[in-house]
Amino acid sequence: MRFLLVTLGCAKNEVDSDRMRALLLSAGFEEVADAAEADVAIVNTCSFLASATEESVEATLQIAEERSEGVRACPIVMCGCVPSRYGDELASELPEVAAFVRAEDEDGIVGVVCEVLGAEAPRAAAEGTLRTIEGASAFVKISEGCDRFCTFCAIPYIRGRYHSRPADEVVSEVRALMEGGVREVVLIGQDTGVWGCDLGEGETLAALLRRVAEAVRPYGGWVRVLYLQPEGMTDELIATIRDVPEVLPYIDIPIQHCSARVLKAMGRPGSAEELRALFARLRAEIPGMVLRTTGMAGFPGETDEEADELYDFIAEQEFDYCSVFAYSQEDGTAAARMDGQVPEEVKLERTQRLIDLTEQLGFAATAAHVGERVRVIVDGVEEGPDGPELIGHAWFQAPDSDGAVHIAEGEASVGDIVTVDLVDSFCYEMTGELVKEDD
Ligand code: SF4
Repeated sequence: MRFLLVTLGCAKNEVDSDRMRALLLSAGFEEVADAAEADVAIVNTCSFLASATEESVEATLQIAEERSEGVRACPIVMCGCVPSRYGDELASELPEVAAFVRAEDEDGIVGVVCEVLGAEAPRAAAEGTLRTIEGASAFVKISEGCDRFCTFCAIPYIRGRYHSRPADEVVSEVRALMEGGVREVVLIGQDTGVWGCDLGEGETLAALLRRVAEAVRPYGGWVRVLYLQPEGMTDELIATIRDVPEVLPYIDIPIQHCSARVLKAMGRPGSAEELRALFARLRAEIPGMVLRTTGMAGFPGETDEEADELYDFIAEQEFDYCSVFAYSQEDGTAAARMDGQVPEEVKLERTQRLIDLTEQLGFAATAAHVGERVRVIVDGVEEGPDGPELIGHAWFQAPDSDGAVHIAEGEASVGDIVTVDLVDSFCYEMTGELVKEDD
């Protein structure tokens, strides 16, 4: 009873995969890394963009192809966003797949796998908040779905309406992760700022962060939160990020655009003036904070002037980190039906111009940390140019997205929080020297 688990897409999918892995392991299944050794292959798919859907289908077909080339035959179970988005259409389109599991049904993975294999699980799966993470950082989902319905985005149709995970559940998962050696939790969801809006009075993200901070405190751990929409930055939240030491002053606010006209067409509130005022306030109230954002190029109807407006705004704000996406015309979304779709080559040219700018800003922001003495969470050991080196990340680097700190000499274990002098940088990567306790 061996399974292969392939995960595509974002950190939220990684969390879902980890939950399925934990359920299968607790039911007596064994995980393998190769389809040739597996009794069943599970592909957890992404469908955020058309290109992600294609990649997910290709990954599935590749396993099917290997299977038909005489490698050990194993059925395939497709999970996650692609089945959630395309539902019953898939059975006729993908006869290679034995079963489809929508994202909201993934807790039933053990039953589906047993049905596909025509076998009983070795034992009953465990219950509760299960994780299998062995690294120093873990993503923790605090909500599912989204109520915003931005006109370009298929997520609300794929993941459903917004619902918050109860605080007790989040906190008990965080405690279990800390017990298992994790030292940083990264709270994620499609729209984290509104966490608690469906739970009742006093249930706010700030209140949740304070509880999570209490849970990580005995372990010397950190918490960071991603995907805060601009309107979610309440006074209470700003004060919590500023005043609670375990909550990192790392703020991720996807703006997508700054032109009031484009934002309105996107179904998002705000304008350049409002965003400018928000960032000025954050900088004033949380000195030294790090700011990450996301921008989108080539939304339908975006003029050259509006593209320039976004470029100038990003340059002016000097974001530490900024991800840039080209608008993608997604089935079933309002923006896909809008007039004024921007030609592909113009979209790509605008996207590349923004990427060049954000790299320039990001590399400079990284270099500005040279000379600082910081705490670094050790993620592991990697082969460096002069032999094995410790690799970790500082408070201003979100795991899996913002680069790392490389430490050529010294010993430490995964999850240790060490003090490091940052001595150099290259693009988003930094090198540092371990500070001995008596230094
Ligand atoms: S807030 Fe994010 S997930 Fe929600 S609809 Fe807008 S882009 Fe999509």
